[in-house]
Amino acid sequence: MKHEIPESLQPSYIELSRSALVKNFEFLKSRAKSGVRISSVIKGNAYGHGISSFIPLAESCGINHFSVFSADEAEGVLKFRSDPDTDVMIMGMIRDDELSWAIDNGIEFYLFEMGRLDRAIEAAGKLNKRAKVHLQIESGMHRTGFEKKEWEKLFEKIKSHEDEIEIKGICTHYAGAESVANFFRIQNQNRIFKEALETAEKIFDNMPPIHASSSAAFLTMPDKQYDMVRIGIAQYGFWPSRETYMHHAKANEFEEDHDPLRRVMTWKSEVMSTKWVNAGEFIGYGNVFMAGRDMRIATVPIGYTHGFGRNLTNSGHVLIRGERANVSGLVNMNMITVDITDIPNVQKGDEVVLIGKQGEDEITVASFGEMTNNLNYEILTRLPASIPRVVVD
Ligand SMILES: *Cc1c(COP(=O)(O)O)cnc(C)c1O
Repeated sequence: MKHEIPESLQPSYIELSRSALVKNFEFLKSRAKSGVRISSVIKGNAYGHGISSFIPLAESCGINHFSVFSADEAEGVLKFRSDPDTDVMIMGMIRDDELSWAIDNGIEFYLFEMGRLDRAIEAAGKLNKRAKVHLQIESGMHRTGFEKKEWEKLFEKIKSHEDEIEIKGICTHYAGAESVANFFRIQNQNRIFKEALETAEKIFDNMPPIHASSSAAFLTMPDKQYDMVRIGIAQYGFWPSRETYMHHAKANEFEEDHDPLRRVMTWKSEVMSTKWVNAGEFIGYGNVFMAGRDMRIATVPIGYTHGFGRNLTNSGHVLIRGERANVSGLVNMNMITVDITDIPNVQKGDEVVLIGKQGEDEITVASFGEMTNNLNYEILTRLPASIPRVVVD
């Protein structure tokens, strides 16, 4: 299905590739053990992909569980899901006075403090509706989660409040599964989480679903899938880190086409104007870039206000007519100037790719930022919500 590009509204837009997403979920499902549910993590405006387009797209790939950070993001899922039975889970911030709203709307949320449990019991009692909770275990990340000394009391209390509380999960989160450097810390977390599960088994008649893994843990520790995995970055077509990718590539003996993930996003703009600049002249503000030869430059109407960082001054590049054009001069608030001297026939209106493929070449998010994949997360989520997202095949 092709949508019309919202013409003349915005200087750039982001295309989301349905076929790329389908492929990614095919791959992820092929790696999931039978019966393991995939929760699609869509905090940070679906890692910059835009929740309004991304949620129905993911649903069309068979996803029926979304994880978000906060109550406002959960509201977004209620608004944009196409199936009213699609589940939503808040992993982080929800205020006590928002609990009634969450319970009334059937939204699942993490419990990591006794206080929140008490408020949830109260609110559920008033509504005469059960709160759907996930019990977050402190296994060693030391952000949020119930400490070992609280487990028994917590589980007993929940058991005695079955009318108000429905446990949807017991969970934890790894402190950096994307790096071998954290190996011992993660092993320790697994040991503590296992203890928590054993304590729970003694108290609950039926164990609730268990979940611990994000993309990196899912891709490197197949024995820790439990009943559900929370997949963020990988569904969008990015490896959580180079190490995670190497882990996969090695296991597949470095086959020819061994990257099964496809980038879902392409960020595009167009040439606003072109002009010739004589050797020795400065381009843009100040003396950041001097033309070393007679140069032809193109202006592109995106800048740091759109998430194209100032750190790309004189160093970033974009694709025009399938070729790389270097950013020449400062990245401005709304504009960049790029070198098109060696790209023949560039014209006003030509497509410019800022992230993604054009012809044979590709600007990856990592190279768009700096040479480390960990930055993918930050750069993606910084793309403003106001850029239109367009679904293409
Ligand atoms: C963000 C997040 C995830 C997803 O992480 P990815 O590395 O993007 O897969 C999973 N669980 C929690 C608790 C998170 O905050």
